[in-house]
Amino acid sequence: MVVQTGRHFLQIPGPSNVPDRVLRAMDMPTIDHRGPEFAAMAFQLMEDCKTVFRTRNPVLIFPSSGTGAWEAAIVNTLSPGDKVLMPETGQFSVLWRQLAARFKIEVETIAGDWRRGAKADEIEAHLLADKQHAIKGVMVVHNETSTGVTSRVAEIRKAMDRAKHPALLFVDTVSSTGSIAYEHDAWGVDVTVSGSQKGLMMPPGLSFNAISDKALEATKTSQMPRSYWDWNEAINANKSGSWPYTPATNLLYALKEAIAMLHEEGLENVFARHIRHGAATRAAVRAWGLETVCVDPLEYSPVTTAVMVPEGYDADDFRKITLENFNMSLGTGLGRLKGRAFRIGHLGYFNDLMLMGTLAGVEMGLDLSKIPHKSGGVLAAMDVLKAKEEVPLQRSAVA
Ligand SMILES: *Cc1c(COP(=O)(O)O)cnc(C)c1O
Repeated sequence: MVVQTGRHFLQIPGPSNVPDRVLRAMDMPTIDHRGPEFAAMAFQLMEDCKTVFRTRNPVLIFPSSGTGAWEAAIVNTLSPGDKVLMPETGQFSVLWRQLAARFKIEVETIAGDWRRGAKADEIEAHLLADKQHAIKGVMVVHNETSTGVTSRVAEIRKAMDRAKHPALLFVDTVSSTGSIAYEHDAWGVDVTVSGSQKGLMMPPGLSFNAISDKALEATKTSQMPRSYWDWNEAINANKSGSWPYTPATNLLYALKEAIAMLHEEGLENVFARHIRHGAATRAAVRAWGLETVCVDPLEYSPVTTAVMVPEGYDADDFRKITLENFNMSLGTGLGRLKGRAFRIGHLGYFNDLMLMGTLAGVEMGLDLSKIPHKSGGVLAAMDVLKAKEEVPLQRSAVA
């Protein structure tokens, strides 16, 4: 067995690297979750979460992975037989659709080639055609982690308003919360679904629903059976600083610390850092002569870059070689991109030299696996990191 020294490079787009500060924050006694000390922390944490999701309404915290919060969003607001509209942007939109179907939700899919984001004009056209308002929800993945494409949520909201359609807007921000600019209230999102282990720099295990007044109102008419995920039960318990069941106490300590770190750096700086690392990564990909999965520069993801490998080569063989030789994990191609693409995660607790190590590992891995490419990707990324000029903010990050 080969003994690895130094830190493993965990460059998958989530779970992302967990800062030592967050790990240390968890390394504390588990306390009485019905006692006064816990309640004081819980009240503060509920306020802290609002600053990250950018909402004045409650943010519900569940002890689950992001998938649980997908389910919570559906069972609290919809009824069996309801119709929703869902642009297919990649594997995560497909998984959410499959989950919805199990609850007897009828999903109208807008087909996509997995290289672009959700298109506001197409959503508008579907909603305009729905004269009877049969569509109860529009479900969009903000940052499609499987493709490295970020959809422009503010534009989608505007399109829904233009169509004067009452559907709820559901947005999955599992891989963008705490790393890509996002405005739950200002963008008129009804349900935001998120998780702890990506941009939020935490271990896996917590998920979130940020909700609008309209979404809360929908719980009154929703006919879906629900128990564990019931928002109203959680909101009632939260009023006394508790949960209807045992919360994930030590993960809540981690959340408190992670949010403190985000505010110490400043959310705007956090977002700019991710945009800059995305730009440097794409400079490397271009210099290698390879192609990103994302084809629209307005939709490049600041947190993950998916790279196509040339025809006849297997991206997973390359990943295996990179792991064995350089102790670095890269993201696999998901769904229809299996074997055809790999993903570089550049999110969460990350800096310039971690990115340089990552890209050097990728370039050496490309060499060793004999994937046709040009050298000089690392140098191209260095030029971006050395340049003092601001990397232009993507529209998605400022809209
Ligand atoms: C990771 C991810 C999920 C699934 O979250 P789990 O925590 O694995 O359940 C959903 N949506 C997106 C966009 C993701 O990146």
